[in-house]
Amino acid sequence: PKPIVAVVGRPNVGKSTLVNRLAERREAIVHESRGVTRDRSYHDTDWNGREFTLVDTGGIESVKSKDAFAPRIREQALAACDEADVIVFVVDGTCGITDEDEEVARVVRKADKPVFLIVNKQDNPDSESDLWPFYSLGVGEPRSISATHGYGTGDLLDDIVAAF
Ligand code: GDP
Ligand code: MG
Repeated sequence: PKPIVAVVGRPNVGKSTLVNRLAERREAIVHESRGVTRDRSYHDTDWNGREFTLVDTGGIESVKSKDAFAPRIREQALAACDEADVIVFVVDGTCGITDEDEEVARVVRKADKPVFLIVNKQDNPDSESDLWPFYSLGVGEPRSISATHGYGTGDLLDDIVAAF
């Protein structure tokens, strides 16, 4: 079976934008599952000849803020991390760490799998957010990315496939 790379994080941090960017033109949704803890879409892709499946979480219903409450976010992160070989944990670099980020961080730490902490929405290389605060999430070294512009995504893919 192909390695599974789960993209987790609270709503609106840019998970779906990142998944689409990482999958590029090779993207194909191979499967969708729905329901409170099963709200995920699966995208087969490859990089440097390595095939893997990217999993986007919370894609179908949780975008609206009334669904963005911690227990639901926690359940989705748990289910996704459970089946993952590698975890991509996305936060929004344009705002600080929120309670929901902390909630996801707890789940990610417990999963005890290779994790990449992505500080997204760093669209301007000349004015990046300070990465230092994000170390407090306790999941390792944060890295800047712009999912919309593609900054940092090639390096991320290199490191993801190296982690399999
Ligand atoms: P999700 O809920 O985590 O899947 O987040 P989405 O991918 O739906 O993105 C939420 C919002 O953030 C959308 O308006 C995106 O266009 C925006 N967004 C995502 N990535 C970036 C980025 O790198 N830079 C900026 N400026 N906005 C982004
Ligand atoms: Mg989404």
